[in-house]
Amino acid sequence: MKKLAQGMYRILGEGAFEYLAKAQALERQGREILHFEIGQPDFPTPQHIKEAAFEAINNNFTGYVSSSGILELKEAIQEEVEQSRGYRPDIDQILVLPGAKPGIFYPMMAVADPGDEIIYPDPGFPTYGSVVKYLNAGDVPVGLKEENEFRLNPDDIAAKITPKTKLLILNSPQNPTGSVMTKSELEEIAEMAEEHDFFVLADEIYSKMLYDAKFHSVTVRDETKERTILLDGFSKSYSMTGWRLGYIVGPKELIEKMGLVMINALSCTTSFVQKAGVAALEGSQEGLYEMMKAFRERRDAIVKGLNEVPDFSCLTPEGAFYAFPNIKATRKTSKEMADFVLNEAGVCCLPGSSFGPNGEGYLRFSYATSVEKISQAIAKIKEAME
Ligand code: PMP
Repeated sequence: MKKLAQGMYRILGEGAFEYLAKAQALERQGREILHFEIGQPDFPTPQHIKEAAFEAINNNFTGYVSSSGILELKEAIQEEVEQSRGYRPDIDQILVLPGAKPGIFYPMMAVADPGDEIIYPDPGFPTYGSVVKYLNAGDVPVGLKEENEFRLNPDDIAAKITPKTKLLILNSPQNPTGSVMTKSELEEIAEMAEEHDFFVLADEIYSKMLYDAKFHSVTVRDETKERTILLDGFSKSYSMTGWRLGYIVGPKELIEKMGLVMINALSCTTSFVQKAGVAALEGSQEGLYEMMKAFRERRDAIVKGLNEVPDFSCLTPEGAFYAFPNIKATRKTSKEMADFVLNEAGVCCLPGSSFGPNGEGYLRFSYATSVEKISQAIAKIKEAME
């Protein structure tokens, strides 16, 4: 075959899918595997959200809709941002997308020319680094440190800023560590962005998934008018990963240009899925509360359990549903350890290194599974380690 465009040789995949395939290969051989690799809640989408989609389909709400999203959903998002962040964006600052992921890809594409530097957390969601490489932008990962409970340190960001810095990506609550940025850290970062004139993309997909910490958004300072872009979605909070629904809120010109990208790439986000999104935001939040109650129990169980495994130590995550134990004392690389845990204990987790070089020495466990399965997994890992 003829060679493809150069960018196609720079774009990367995701570790979760690689380990899922390894686990499935073992399952085909008859092994029983406990799954901790996938970042998706194990709860069904709440019934009233499903009903809203059924109703929309039955009413033939199945054609093209506005490329930036249906007004009803944009109004619900406007209200949601006001309630959760404390400011009310204009309707034309909102773009509805099929999932949160295009809300990473499109803004990165919209602001960075080749060579423009993009700063992003390491370890962090793999899409950030992959898209930086795809765009041939300047790749500037900034390490998260366990001593700082895996929160991005504003001083570490400051050390990476150059005249070429175009975009900073923040993710709080964070994947893969579960860390949550503080208000004062975010204020400091927002000031830095103004002073050095760069954009900030705030990936806040886990904004409703907190335990004890309070949620703060970096976007509050400029109300997404000048340089901040808020990304949130429905996949995690409402157990809607397969529905593909997310949104960004940002400066008008940027949203308008990304609307053109939408028209060219996708036309619009699925019509009836957007009606389900309205039901998610405006309907009962009971499903979310129940889910977070379960996640809290699971978090406590897995953190306690992982700390009992010889040579493992694990901080308590403040948000999302990931535990990120330190395994440096095992003297194995995180890939070796993830393979060992999979092959010897039948427990599938991810190597920290699949979230960036700075994730080396850690594992990621997505605790989207029952407390019973968590107990079984811990017992099996302990046995394998001993
Ligand atoms: N951002 C982060 C930090 C995530 O963890 C994920 C999903 N794992 C996404 C974005 C993408 O979400 P979606 O499935 O809605 O595209």
